[in-house]
Amino acid sequence: MNIDNLSEILQNCGSCNYCRDTCPMYIELKSELDSPGGKLRALRAYATKMRNPPIALLQKLYCADCRRCEAICPAGVPVTEIWHDAKAQLIKTGGEMPETLQKVLAWIEKEGTPFIGFEAEERSVWAEDLDLPEESTTAIFSGCMGSFWYPDQPETIVDMLHKFNVNAGYVPKEICCGLFNYWAGDDKGFEEVVRKNYEMFKKAGVDHIVTGCGGCYGTLAEHYPHIIPDFDIKILHTVEVLVDMVRNGVLTFGELEGSYTLHDGCHLGRALGIYEPPREIINAIPGLEFVEMKNNRDKSNCCGGFLSVLDPEIAESVGRRRVAEAEELGVDGIITTCVSCYKNLSYNAKDTKLKVIQLDELILDKALSSQVEE
Ligand code: SF4
Ligand code: SF4
Repeated sequence: MNIDNLSEILQNCGSCNYCRDTCPMYIELKSELDSPGGKLRALRAYATKMRNPPIALLQKLYCADCRRCEAICPAGVPVTEIWHDAKAQLIKTGGEMPETLQKVLAWIEKEGTPFIGFEAEERSVWAEDLDLPEESTTAIFSGCMGSFWYPDQPETIVDMLHKFNVNAGYVPKEICCGLFNYWAGDDKGFEEVVRKNYEMFKKAGVDHIVTGCGGCYGTLAEHYPHIIPDFDIKILHTVEVLVDMVRNGVLTFGELEGSYTLHDGCHLGRALGIYEPPREIINAIPGLEFVEMKNNRDKSNCCGGFLSVLDPEIAESVGRRRVAEAEELGVDGIITTCVSCYKNLSYNAKDTKLKVIQLDELILDKALSSQVEE
Protein backbone atom coordinates (compact mmCIF):
# COMPACT_ATOMS: atom_id res chain seq x y z
CA MET A 1 0.00 0.00 0.00
CA ASN A 2 1.50 3.39 -0.85
CA ILE A 3 0.30 6.85 -0.04
CA ASP A 4 -1.79 7.06 -3.23
CA ASN A 5 -3.98 4.06 -2.57
CA LEU A 6 -3.83 4.73 1.18
CA SER A 7 -6.12 7.71 0.59
CA GLU A 8 -8.48 5.46 -1.40
CA ILE A 9 -8.58 2.82 1.35
CA LEU A 10 -9.13 5.47 4.00
CA GLN A 11 -12.31 6.57 2.21
CA ASN A 12 -13.94 3.39 3.55
CA CYS A 13 -13.81 4.76 7.09
CA GLY A 14 -17.09 6.60 7.67
CA SER A 15 -15.81 8.19 10.92
CA CYS A 16 -18.62 6.50 12.86
CA ASN A 17 -16.28 6.08 15.85
CA TYR A 18 -17.82 2.71 16.80
CA CYS A 19 -14.28 1.55 17.29
CA ARG A 20 -13.25 4.30 19.68
CA ASP A 21 -14.49 2.96 23.01
CA THR A 22 -13.09 -0.51 22.36
CA CYS A 23 -9.55 0.80 21.83
CA PRO A 24 -7.26 0.32 24.85
CA MET A 25 -5.18 3.36 23.85
CA TYR A 26 -8.24 5.61 23.75
CA ILE A 27 -9.56 4.13 27.01
CA GLU A 28 -6.25 4.97 28.68
CA LEU A 29 -5.42 8.30 27.07
CA LYS A 30 -8.83 9.74 26.10
CA SER A 31 -7.29 11.65 23.23
CA GLU A 32 -8.79 11.73 19.75
CA LEU A 33 -5.39 11.15 18.14
CA ASP A 34 -5.12 7.94 20.13
CA SER A 35 -8.44 6.62 18.87
CA PRO A 36 -8.47 4.47 15.71
CA GLY A 37 -10.89 6.80 13.90
CA GLY A 38 -8.88 9.88 14.91
CA LYS A 39 -5.67 8.37 13.57
CA LEU A 40 -7.40 7.36 10.34
CA ARG A 41 -8.68 10.92 9.90
CA ALA A 42 -5.20 12.33 10.51
CA LEU A 43 -3.76 9.88 7.99
CA ARG A 44 -6.41 10.84 5.48
CA ALA A 45 -5.44 14.49 5.87
CA TYR A 46 -1.82 13.51 5.26
CA ALA A 47 -2.64 11.31 2.30
CA THR A 48 -4.84 13.86 0.56
CA LYS A 49 -3.45 17.32 1.33
CA MET A 50 -0.69 17.64 3.85
CA ARG A 51 2.93 17.39 2.80
CA ASN A 52 4.19 16.67 6.30
CA PRO A 53 2.21 14.66 8.81
CA PRO A 54 2.26 15.85 12.42
CA ILE A 55 5.32 14.37 14.12
CA ALA A 56 3.01 12.91 16.75
CA LEU A 57 1.10 10.85 14.20
CA LEU A 58 3.80 8.24 13.56
CA GLN A 59 4.28 7.79 17.33
CA LYS A 60 0.51 7.30 17.75
CA LEU A 61 0.49 4.47 15.23
CA TYR A 62 2.55 2.38 17.68
CA CYS A 63 -0.52 1.15 19.54
CA ALA A 64 -1.30 -2.24 21.10
CA ASP A 65 -2.04 -3.64 17.62
CA CYS A 66 -4.86 -5.60 19.24
CA ARG A 67 -7.31 -5.42 16.29
CA ARG A 68 -10.25 -4.69 18.56
CA CYS A 69 -11.10 -1.74 16.28
CA GLU A 70 -10.94 -3.92 13.20
CA ALA A 71 -13.24 -6.55 14.70
CA ILE A 72 -15.99 -4.05 15.46
CA CYS A 73 -15.69 -1.90 12.31
CA PRO A 74 -18.89 -2.19 10.24
CA ALA A 75 -17.07 -0.99 7.12
CA GLY A 76 -14.38 -3.68 7.28
CA VAL A 77 -11.53 -1.15 7.38
CA PRO A 78 -8.26 -3.14 7.61
CA VAL A 79 -7.05 -0.88 10.40
CA THR A 80 -3.92 -2.69 11.58
CA GLU A 81 -2.72 -3.30 8.01
CA ILE A 82 -3.12 0.45 7.48
CA TRP A 83 -1.10 1.13 10.66
CA HIS A 84 1.69 -1.11 9.44
CA ASP A 85 1.79 0.28 5.92
CA ALA A 86 1.51 3.89 7.09
CA LYS A 87 4.36 3.40 9.58
CA ALA A 88 6.55 1.89 6.85
CA GLN A 89 5.65 4.79 4.52
CA LEU A 90 6.21 7.52 7.11
CA ILE A 91 9.59 6.04 8.05
CA LYS A 92 10.64 5.91 4.40
CA THR A 93 9.71 9.57 4.02
CA GLY A 94 11.79 10.75 6.99
CA GLY A 95 9.64 9.94 10.04
CA GLU A 96 11.51 8.62 13.07
CA MET A 97 10.29 5.73 15.13
CA PRO A 98 10.59 6.05 18.94
CA GLU A 99 14.18 5.80 20.17
CA THR A 100 13.40 2.79 22.39
CA LEU A 101 12.09 0.92 19.40
CA GLN A 102 15.19 1.78 17.36
CA LYS A 103 17.30 0.24 20.13
CA VAL A 104 15.10 -2.87 20.19
CA LEU A 105 15.48 -3.32 16.42
CA ALA A 106 19.25 -2.83 16.62
CA TRP A 107 19.38 -5.55 19.30
CA ILE A 108 17.33 -7.91 17.12
CA GLU A 109 19.83 -7.35 14.31
CA LYS A 110 22.76 -8.03 16.66
CA GLU A 111 21.45 -10.79 18.94
CA GLY A 112 18.26 -12.05 17.25
CA THR A 113 15.97 -11.03 20.12
CA PRO A 114 14.13 -7.84 21.13
CA PHE A 115 15.06 -8.36 24.79
CA ILE A 116 17.99 -6.03 25.34
CA GLY A 117 20.65 -7.62 27.52
CA PHE A 118 19.97 -11.20 26.39
CA GLU A 119 22.45 -12.68 23.93
CA ALA A 120 21.98 -15.08 21.03
CA GLU A 121 24.02 -17.84 22.66
CA GLU A 122 21.61 -17.93 25.64
CA ARG A 123 18.60 -18.69 23.41
CA SER A 124 19.02 -22.46 23.35
CA VAL A 125 20.13 -23.00 26.97
CA TRP A 126 16.67 -24.41 27.80
CA ALA A 127 17.24 -27.27 25.33
CA GLU A 128 20.81 -28.15 26.30
CA ASP A 129 20.03 -31.29 28.30
CA LEU A 130 17.09 -32.45 26.21
CA ASP A 131 18.99 -34.05 23.37
CA LEU A 132 16.60 -32.78 20.70
CA PRO A 133 17.50 -33.41 17.05
CA GLU A 134 18.54 -30.28 15.16
CA GLU A 135 17.18 -31.77 11.96
CA SER A 136 13.59 -33.00 11.95
CA THR A 137 10.35 -32.61 10.03
CA THR A 138 8.59 -31.09 13.06
CA ALA A 139 10.37 -28.41 15.08
CA ILE A 140 9.49 -26.39 18.16
CA PHE A 141 9.73 -22.64 17.69
CA SER A 142 10.55 -21.55 21.23
CA GLY A 143 10.37 -17.81 20.46
CA CYS A 144 12.05 -15.08 22.49
CA MET A 145 9.64 -15.05 25.41
CA GLY A 146 9.88 -18.82 25.83
CA SER A 147 13.65 -19.00 25.27
CA PHE A 148 14.72 -16.14 27.54
CA TRP A 149 11.95 -15.40 30.04
CA TYR A 150 10.11 -18.68 30.52
CA PRO A 151 12.46 -21.54 29.48
CA ASP A 152 10.12 -24.01 31.22
CA GLN A 153 7.52 -23.25 28.57
CA PRO A 154 9.24 -24.72 25.48
CA GLU A 155 10.40 -27.61 27.66
CA THR A 156 6.78 -28.22 28.67
CA ILE A 157 5.82 -28.32 24.98
CA VAL A 158 8.59 -30.80 24.20
CA ASP A 159 7.52 -33.04 27.12
CA MET A 160 3.90 -32.78 26.10
CA LEU A 161 4.55 -33.63 22.45
CA HIS A 162 6.80 -36.52 23.41
CA LYS A 163 4.08 -37.85 25.68
CA PHE A 164 1.79 -37.92 22.68
CA ASN A 165 4.39 -39.52 20.43
CA VAL A 166 5.02 -36.39 18.39
CA ASN A 167 8.78 -36.30 17.94
CA ALA A 168 9.77 -32.69 17.61
CA GLY A 169 13.25 -31.30 17.16
CA TYR A 170 14.64 -27.85 17.84
CA VAL A 171 16.74 -25.70 15.54
CA PRO A 172 18.89 -23.68 17.96
CA LYS A 173 19.78 -21.08 15.36
CA GLU A 174 16.20 -19.74 15.27
CA ILE A 175 15.98 -15.99 15.79
CA CYS A 176 13.11 -13.69 16.79
CA CYS A 177 10.03 -14.30 14.62
CA GLY A 178 10.16 -10.65 13.50
CA LEU A 179 6.96 -9.46 15.15
CA PHE A 180 8.67 -6.32 16.42
CA ASN A 181 10.12 -5.48 13.00
CA TYR A 182 6.69 -5.90 11.45
CA TRP A 183 5.01 -3.83 14.15
CA ALA A 184 7.65 -1.11 13.81
CA GLY A 185 7.04 -0.80 10.06
CA ASP A 186 10.66 -1.93 9.52
CA ASP A 187 10.02 -3.82 6.28
CA LYS A 188 13.69 -4.34 5.45
CA GLY A 189 14.50 -5.78 8.90
CA PHE A 190 11.39 -7.96 8.81
CA GLU A 191 12.30 -9.43 5.45
CA GLU A 192 15.82 -10.24 6.68
CA VAL A 193 14.48 -12.02 9.77
CA VAL A 194 11.91 -14.00 7.76
CA ARG A 195 14.46 -15.13 5.19
CA LYS A 196 17.01 -16.13 7.86
CA ASN A 197 14.47 -18.22 9.78
CA TYR A 198 12.95 -19.76 6.66
CA GLU A 199 16.29 -20.77 5.16
CA MET A 200 17.44 -22.21 8.47
CA PHE A 201 14.27 -24.29 8.86
CA LYS A 202 14.40 -25.55 5.28
CA LYS A 203 18.05 -26.57 5.76
CA ALA A 204 17.01 -28.55 8.84
CA GLY A 205 14.29 -30.38 6.85
CA VAL A 206 11.42 -28.79 8.79
CA ASP A 207 7.93 -28.89 7.30
CA HIS A 208 5.89 -28.34 10.50
CA ILE A 209 6.55 -25.79 13.25
CA VAL A 210 4.83 -25.95 16.65
CA THR A 211 4.79 -22.97 18.97
CA GLY A 212 3.08 -22.01 22.22
CA CYS A 213 3.37 -18.26 21.65
CA GLY A 214 0.41 -16.50 20.04
CA GLY A 215 2.62 -13.67 18.77
CA CYS A 216 5.14 -15.99 17.07
CA TYR A 217 2.29 -18.09 15.69
CA GLY A 218 0.53 -15.04 14.25
CA THR A 219 3.71 -13.69 12.68
CA LEU A 220 4.85 -16.99 11.18
CA ALA A 221 1.43 -18.02 9.89
CA GLU A 222 0.08 -14.66 8.77
CA HIS A 223 3.03 -12.56 7.65
CA TYR A 224 5.78 -14.99 6.49
CA PRO A 225 3.82 -15.99 3.34
CA HIS A 226 3.77 -12.31 2.29
CA ILE A 227 7.57 -12.35 2.13
CA ILE A 228 7.91 -15.92 0.83
CA PRO A 229 4.97 -16.50 -1.55
CA ASP A 230 5.55 -20.28 -1.81
CA PHE A 231 5.96 -20.62 1.97
CA ASP A 232 5.62 -24.35 2.53
CA ILE A 233 5.97 -24.87 6.28
CA LYS A 234 2.80 -25.64 8.21
CA ILE A 235 2.57 -23.49 11.34
CA LEU A 236 0.70 -24.93 14.29
CA HIS A 237 -0.14 -23.68 17.73
CA THR A 238 -0.05 -26.31 20.46
CA VAL A 239 -3.84 -26.06 20.91
CA GLU A 240 -4.31 -27.14 17.30
CA VAL A 241 -2.10 -30.19 17.81
CA LEU A 242 -3.89 -31.20 21.00
CA VAL A 243 -7.52 -30.48 20.23
CA ASP A 244 -7.62 -33.29 17.65
CA MET A 245 -6.43 -35.71 20.33
CA VAL A 246 -9.21 -34.53 22.62
CA ARG A 247 -11.76 -34.89 19.81
CA ASN A 248 -10.77 -38.47 19.00
CA GLY A 249 -10.46 -39.50 22.65
CA VAL A 250 -6.67 -40.02 22.71
CA LEU A 251 -6.18 -37.22 25.19
CA THR A 252 -8.17 -37.40 28.41
CA PHE A 253 -7.58 -35.72 31.72
CA GLY A 254 -7.57 -36.31 35.43
CA GLU A 255 -9.84 -34.20 37.60
CA LEU A 256 -9.01 -30.59 38.38
CA GLU A 257 -11.05 -28.72 40.93
CA GLY A 258 -11.57 -25.01 40.59
CA SER A 259 -13.12 -22.41 38.34
CA TYR A 260 -11.20 -20.84 35.52
CA THR A 261 -11.74 -18.35 32.75
CA LEU A 262 -9.88 -18.08 29.43
CA HIS A 263 -8.09 -15.05 28.04
CA ASP A 264 -8.33 -15.02 24.22
CA GLY A 265 -5.03 -13.49 23.08
CA CYS A 266 -5.21 -11.01 20.19
CA HIS A 267 -2.98 -12.97 17.80
CA LEU A 268 -4.48 -16.42 18.23
CA GLY A 269 -7.99 -14.95 18.36
CA ARG A 270 -8.72 -11.92 16.24
CA ALA A 271 -5.74 -12.38 13.92
CA LEU A 272 -6.20 -16.08 13.21
CA GLY A 273 -9.72 -16.91 14.46
CA ILE A 274 -8.72 -19.74 16.83
CA TYR A 275 -11.38 -19.53 19.53
CA GLU A 276 -12.91 -22.99 19.96
CA PRO A 277 -9.90 -25.36 20.29
CA PRO A 278 -8.76 -24.04 23.70
CA ARG A 279 -12.38 -24.14 24.94
CA GLU A 280 -12.81 -27.74 23.77
CA ILE A 281 -9.63 -28.74 25.61
CA ILE A 282 -10.61 -26.89 28.81
CA ASN A 283 -14.13 -28.32 28.77
CA ALA A 284 -12.68 -31.84 28.50
CA ILE A 285 -11.03 -31.51 31.94
CA PRO A 286 -13.37 -33.09 34.49
CA GLY A 287 -14.17 -31.04 37.57
CA LEU A 288 -12.97 -27.78 36.07
CA GLU A 289 -15.70 -25.15 36.04
CA PHE A 290 -15.23 -22.95 32.98
CA VAL A 291 -16.57 -19.41 33.13
CA GLU A 292 -16.44 -17.14 30.07
CA MET A 293 -15.18 -13.59 30.39
CA LYS A 294 -17.79 -11.00 29.48
CA ASN A 295 -15.48 -9.84 26.68
CA ASN A 296 -14.57 -13.08 24.97
CA ARG A 297 -13.56 -14.34 21.50
CA ASP A 298 -13.43 -11.41 19.04
CA LYS A 299 -14.47 -9.01 21.83
CA SER A 300 -11.64 -10.05 24.09
CA ASN A 301 -9.68 -7.18 25.59
CA CYS A 302 -5.94 -7.04 25.02
CA CYS A 303 -3.52 -8.00 27.84
CA GLY A 304 -1.42 -4.94 26.94
CA GLY A 305 1.84 -6.88 26.87
CA PHE A 306 3.04 -5.53 23.56
CA LEU A 307 2.91 -1.97 24.90
CA SER A 308 5.49 -2.70 27.59
CA VAL A 309 8.26 -1.94 25.07
CA LEU A 310 7.20 1.67 24.66
CA ASP A 311 5.08 2.52 27.66
CA PRO A 312 5.23 0.12 30.61
CA GLU A 313 2.70 2.22 32.57
CA ILE A 314 0.02 1.88 29.90
CA ALA A 315 0.87 -1.80 29.46
CA GLU A 316 0.32 -2.29 33.18
CA SER A 317 -2.93 -0.38 33.24
CA VAL A 318 -4.33 -2.31 30.25
CA GLY A 319 -3.22 -5.59 31.86
CA ARG A 320 -4.82 -4.66 35.18
CA ARG A 321 -8.14 -3.98 33.44
CA ARG A 322 -8.08 -7.46 31.90
CA VAL A 323 -7.20 -9.06 35.24
CA ALA A 324 -10.04 -7.11 36.89
CA GLU A 325 -12.48 -8.61 34.37
CA ALA A 326 -11.46 -12.07 35.60
CA GLU A 327 -11.66 -10.99 39.25
CA GLU A 328 -15.25 -9.84 38.73
CA LEU A 329 -16.16 -13.40 37.73
CA GLY A 330 -14.98 -14.70 41.11
CA VAL A 331 -12.96 -17.48 39.45
CA ASP A 332 -9.80 -19.09 40.81
CA GLY A 333 -7.68 -18.43 37.76
CA ILE A 334 -7.08 -17.33 34.18
CA ILE A 335 -5.92 -19.77 31.50
CA THR A 336 -3.81 -18.35 28.65
CA THR A 337 -2.72 -19.82 25.34
CA CYS A 338 0.17 -17.41 24.75
CA VAL A 339 3.37 -17.12 26.75
CA SER A 340 3.50 -13.35 26.10
CA CYS A 341 -0.04 -12.84 27.48
CA TYR A 342 1.00 -15.03 30.40
CA LYS A 343 3.80 -12.62 31.22
CA ASN A 344 1.67 -9.51 31.38
CA LEU A 345 -1.36 -11.12 33.02
CA SER A 346 0.64 -12.92 35.71
CA TYR A 347 2.52 -9.71 36.49
CA ASN A 348 -0.72 -7.79 36.87
CA ALA A 349 -2.44 -10.53 38.86
CA LYS A 350 0.39 -10.73 41.42
CA ASP A 351 -1.60 -8.83 44.06
CA THR A 352 -4.82 -10.77 43.49
CA LYS A 353 -5.95 -14.26 44.45
CA LEU A 354 -6.01 -15.31 40.79
CA LYS A 355 -3.71 -18.00 39.45
CA VAL A 356 -2.56 -17.41 35.88
CA ILE A 357 -1.76 -20.65 34.12
CA GLN A 358 -0.75 -21.63 30.61
CA LEU A 359 -2.93 -24.20 28.91
CA ASP A 360 0.10 -26.30 27.85
CA GLU A 361 1.22 -26.53 31.47
CA LEU A 362 -2.27 -27.55 32.54
CA ILE A 363 -2.44 -30.24 29.86
CA LEU A 364 0.93 -31.71 30.78
CA ASP A 365 -0.06 -31.75 34.42
CA LYS A 366 -3.51 -33.23 33.99
CA ALA A 367 -3.20 -35.55 30.97
CA LEU A 368 -3.86 -39.13 32.00
CA SER A 369 -0.63 -41.02 31.54
CA SER A 370 -2.50 -44.30 30.94
CA GLN A 371 -3.68 -42.83 27.63
CA VAL A 372 -0.26 -41.94 26.37
CA GLU A 373 3.16 -43.44 26.10
CA GLU A 374 5.56 -42.50 28.86
S1 SF4 B 1 -5.31 -2.01 17.07
FE1 SF4 B 1 -6.09 -1.91 19.20
S2 SF4 B 1 -4.82 -0.36 20.20
FE2 SF4 B 1 -4.55 -0.11 17.99
S3 SF4 B 1 -6.04 1.42 17.36
FE3 SF4 B 1 -7.03 -0.57 17.06
S4 SF4 B 1 -8.13 -0.95 19.01
FE4 SF4 B 1 -6.64 0.71 19.37
S1 SF4 C 1 -12.49 2.39 11.43
FE1 SF4 C 1 -14.55 1.56 11.13
S2 SF4 C 1 -15.50 1.66 13.19
FE2 SF4 C 1 -13.70 3.01 13.22
S3 SF4 C 1 -14.47 5.06 12.69
FE3 SF4 C 1 -13.81 4.10 10.77
S4 SF4 C 1 -15.64 3.10 9.95
FE4 SF4 C 1 -16.07 3.56 12.10
